[in-house]
Amino acid sequence: MEANKIKSVTTLLLHHAAFLEHRTPIGHPERPDRLRALHSALDTPEFAALMREEAPLADAEAATATHTPAYVEAIRQAIPEDGFTRIDADTTASPGSWEAALRAIGAGIRGVDAVAAGEASNAFGAVRPPGHHAEVATAMGFCLFNSIAIAARHAQSAHGMERAAIIDWDVHHGNGTQDIFWSDPSVLYASTHQMPLFPGTGARTETGVGNIFNAPLSPGDGSEAFRAAFEERILPAVSDFRPDIVLISAGFDAHFRDPLAQINLTEDDFAWATERLLAIADQYSDGRVVSLLEGGYDLQGLAASAAAHIRQLMTA
Ligand SMILES: [Zn+2]
Repeated sequence: MEANKIKSVTTLLLHHAAFLEHRTPIGHPERPDRLRALHSALDTPEFAALMREEAPLADAEAATATHTPAYVEAIRQAIPEDGFTRIDADTTASPGSWEAALRAIGAGIRGVDAVAAGEASNAFGAVRPPGHHAEVATAMGFCLFNSIAIAARHAQSAHGMERAAIIDWDVHHGNGTQDIFWSDPSVLYASTHQMPLFPGTGARTETGVGNIFNAPLSPGDGSEAFRAAFEERILPAVSDFRPDIVLISAGFDAHFRDPLAQINLTEDDFAWATERLLAIADQYSDGRVVSLLEGGYDLQGLAASAAAHIRQLMTA
């Protein structure tokens, strides 16, 4: 048989040069070099089997799946012709931000379409800007549009996947995703994150309509506390939910090298969490997993962690 019939697992890597054109001011941690480091780590024979595609450009209307039309238009209007627009204290837009943000949405949508069609077993979007802090009508925390939330809506509306689970292991709480799905029992949101830390949300008592599962970690916590949070709270919740698709907000800023937080994970912890979520996806979701990059600000920690995550996806 042809070589492409032998491999049973195909991981789709969605990328695009436009993600480098979302510029941030000098010294900003969310910078194009993050993706250069990530792709450099994937530029080895080990990752040659990745199915690589450019992330398509989504319509602005796609963002209205989770954001108000007025908000989407306000972001479009905020894109400068040169230099930067400051949207909040730490969220900025540059001339290339609009296309990057729409391709980040496009990566999530294409990932969902690919796993729905069986073209890929799972998918990872190496995107910028990140999305999980973007609320229904508020940009914050480096995020413009909530790409993983839009992917969940797309799985439901385009593919009839009734229950979407979003697992968020970025070290910051995904207040935007929680906001969007706060009263929607068809989407589960489960997060480990450091508290106290930006954005300040994510207490265990924030439970939505029983669909929100927050497992905050304390500064200084490491592998043991992270894995316990998964074993005791996150994984049982996701299993009980029996998701039709598993979506991951894959931030890697809980890595011990990261400058923005004080959680001490290693790349092995991200591989472990990936493996555990793949097992649940195999059980309930026909293996369908779509993961989008969120944070991760130490270039070495980000690259090693993303590689460990993707390595696991490829061996699902
Ligand atoms: Zn983060």
